[in-house]
Amino acid sequence: MIPFLDLKAQYKSIESEVKEAVAKIFEDCAFVGGKEVATFEKNFADYCHASYCIGVGNGTDALWLTLKAMGIGHGDEVIVPANTFIASSEAITATGARPVFVDHDKETYTINTEEIPSRITEKTKAIMAVHLYGQPADMDPILEIAARHGLKVIEDAAQAHGAEYKGRRVGSIGDAACFSFYPGKNLGAYGDGGAVVTNDKELAGLVRLLSQHGSKVKYIHEIAGYNSRLDGIQAAILNVKMNYIEQWTEARRKNASLYREMLKDTNIILPVEKEDVRHVYHLFVIRIKDREDVQKKLLDRGIQTGIHYPAPIHLTEAYRDLGIPARTFPLSEEYADNLLSLPMYAELTKNQIRKICDALKEIIS
Ligand SMILES: *Cc1c(COP(=O)(O)O)cnc(C)c1O
Repeated sequence: MIPFLDLKAQYKSIESEVKEAVAKIFEDCAFVGGKEVATFEKNFADYCHASYCIGVGNGTDALWLTLKAMGIGHGDEVIVPANTFIASSEAITATGARPVFVDHDKETYTINTEEIPSRITEKTKAIMAVHLYGQPADMDPILEIAARHGLKVIEDAAQAHGAEYKGRRVGSIGDAACFSFYPGKNLGAYGDGGAVVTNDKELAGLVRLLSQHGSKVKYIHEIAGYNSRLDGIQAAILNVKMNYIEQWTEARRKNASLYREMLKDTNIILPVEKEDVRHVYHLFVIRIKDREDVQKKLLDRGIQTGIHYPAPIHLTEAYRDLGIPARTFPLSEEYADNLLSLPMYAELTKNQIRKICDALKEIIS
């Protein structure tokens, strides 16, 4: 059996350190806030080559709090790719603003920057660039369009910890970047967690304020905020994992090149890694004919795969009321039918990758 994701293999490799870190939190009763959270925020800001990091409850909250802090709400529009995890647009919807979808680039699966200008109206306030599957969106044209129209740029970096675009770390490129530490992400906590990273001091202050009941000093509430914080146990675990994130990322990248090597002489469409980026392979997504059939046959051989995502957001039940007809974003819709995510994690062995590739080749021959 080769699982799609093997969280246990990673846990076993750091078990004693994790147990020690968690035990310390219990001893100190530093459950919300505390030293580990502050240390993690510092560590993670440094890791992103950014000035500020605010730990929050999860990645969706990170996006939503950032939009809120930017003053985005009712009557506003935010541009977002149609092919992403629904959280990207849920965060927009939760502010009262409206997501305006854009199709993706045919090679990289990230937002098609050429289509952005035609979607801008006088209501547009921001562009949300999603670094999908671990590959950075093409940020230069996005920043240029945003500057021209006076828009904010939010990086949804939930799948892209440590990714780089033209030598710049994601998290330091837009006005703010949002990360998720959901267990299955490249840097995963043992529960929910998220962070907002930015170089904008004022924005960082506002996100912090919003995330803890609008107060800097207990019971002095400057604004009506919310409660969304990274807890001490998660921060302690993340601090342990920060010592390994680079090594794990390199292992993912190596696994991606093994897949490429072993699948090169097939008609399977492999992910394109742009030359000027560091792709961190949150997912290794291929495109293949008869996807359902291939997925089932792989499972029969003990190989689990995933689909990211079965439907572009505008065609989900949740967004039906926007009334966007099918074929509005043809690439997203076409790809949704033939994307297949192969197992991808640092602990995946060369032997396992060979088994997966051999099985795939046999199935499609
Ligand atoms: C996981 C994810 C999120 C949301 O993160 P949560 O921590 O699960 O709330 C947002 N955007 C993308 C692209 C994601 O993959």
